[in-house]
Amino acid sequence: MFFQDFDRLARNLERRKFTVHAAADAAEAKRIGLSLIGAGSVGFGGSVTVGELGLYEALKARGNEVFSHTHEPPEKKDEVRRRANGARWYVASANALTEDGVLVNIDGAGNRVASMIMGPENVLLFIGRNKLVRDVAEGIERIKRDACPLNARRLNFDTLPCGRTGKCADCWSDERMCRVTSMIEMKPRLIKSFHLVLIDEEIGW
Ligand code: SF4
Repeated sequence: MFFQDFDRLARNLERRKFTVHAAADAAEAKRIGLSLIGAGSVGFGGSVTVGELGLYEALKARGNEVFSHTHEPPEKKDEVRRRANGARWYVASANALTEDGVLVNIDGAGNRVASMIMGPENVLLFIGRNKLVRDVAEGIERIKRDACPLNARRLNFDTLPCGRTGKCADCWSDERMCRVTSMIEMKPRLIKSFHLVLIDEEIGW
């Protein structure tokens, strides 16, 4: 599905002022990311996709200043989320990408969607072909069906219905992960460069 529709998808994204890069696999995606970022500080959103690329470790090893709450103890996570929002680059994935080029995300803290909209001047998202959906409604359904139960288990939120049963119950739990839903329809005005690396592999969730 991905490469069959790639040209049309890329045209739709470019019309929305995103810069599109095609990567055959995770290794190529990582090379593209390292070359785009160059020097400068980098903030990270929580992302299984980015974790699988090993980008945090590679940037840290070559001397970039990095801010990733995932790699910090609980008492430092919020401070690092804020510092990530002030970095030169912001690196994350998207929960879903529609065929006509809209990015769909659901956050709990909101730091990830905030940083994609207003924070670092440069945004870089890595998106596997499993994130491609027909439209926003299907994107939200995909996130609640696939991503949330897996994230609830990853983050040890076993009190959440999705973590226990694998299904969303539109809960009112204090630990609810789904608090902010965003649709980015075009590069936000104050973001200088918004790069999307589309990976022709299933990666992340
Ligand atoms: S609303 Fe609650 S049950 Fe549904 S996916 Fe979000 S956290 Fe899980």
